[in-house]
Amino acid sequence: MTPAGEQLCYTDAYLRSVEAKVVAVDDSDGRLIVLDRTVFYPGGGGQPSDRGLVLRTGDGRTWTVKGARKSSGEIVHELEADDADLPRLGDAVRVDLDWTRRLALMRTHTALHALCGVVWRDYGALVTGGNMEPGSGRMDFEFERMSGDLVDAIEASVNAELAAGREVRVNVLPRDEAFAIPDLIRTKVNLLPPGIEEIRTIEIVGLDLQADGGTHVANTREVGGIRVTGYESKGRINKRIRIELTD
Ligand SMILES: [Zn+2]
Repeated sequence: MTPAGEQLCYTDAYLRSVEAKVVAVDDSDGRLIVLDRTVFYPGGGGQPSDRGLVLRTGDGRTWTVKGARKSSGEIVHELEADDADLPRLGDAVRVDLDWTRRLALMRTHTALHALCGVVWRDYGALVTGGNMEPGSGRMDFEFERMSGDLVDAIEASVNAELAAGREVRVNVLPRDEAFAIPDLIRTKVNLLPPGIEEIRTIEIVGLDLQADGGTHVANTREVGGIRVTGYESKGRINKRIRIELTD
């Protein structure tokens, strides 16, 4: 089913504000609204949802959006619980992201892709999971021989790749075409449910290609640098690497 609301985060990660209309209001389980278009990312793939504000154009009344999520395909905005009323159906609003936070997430997310790309290219280790906050994140790998020395080398390689100014591209491919790309298989694209007809991919040109729903910067140079802040064994084979942005 095609969602009623336009989901702009997937087509332009740099859009931080948009005019919209309230198309659904639900206060039965939290304070939830759906808009006919939004710049909010609903969370997923290790990237937390956005936060921000909704401003009613008519009277300037604002609400804090503390998070967002997907529900039946729609991006649902969760408003802060306070004493005042909710926006009403049909209200014209402007929705604004907490852009400092979102940009930090885009840089962090892109840094994690660079980390994945380097670890796969140099050590053939598969990624099994990951998570992030603005400015820091972690990735888990099937990486039996990881060690402190390797981690230092990985940090240096990731920083070299980021500094190389590689372009980051978003593509949407028909499922069959995506399945024909060997690089995508390692990120377990084959585990995607059969109903999905199109696959969105994020490519750091020359380094990494993944099926992915998140938001990223357009060039690795925008990430700046990273530092490995820790690594740990989660078993004989599974290892975790933690990173943070250095600026
Ligand atoms: Zn991603």
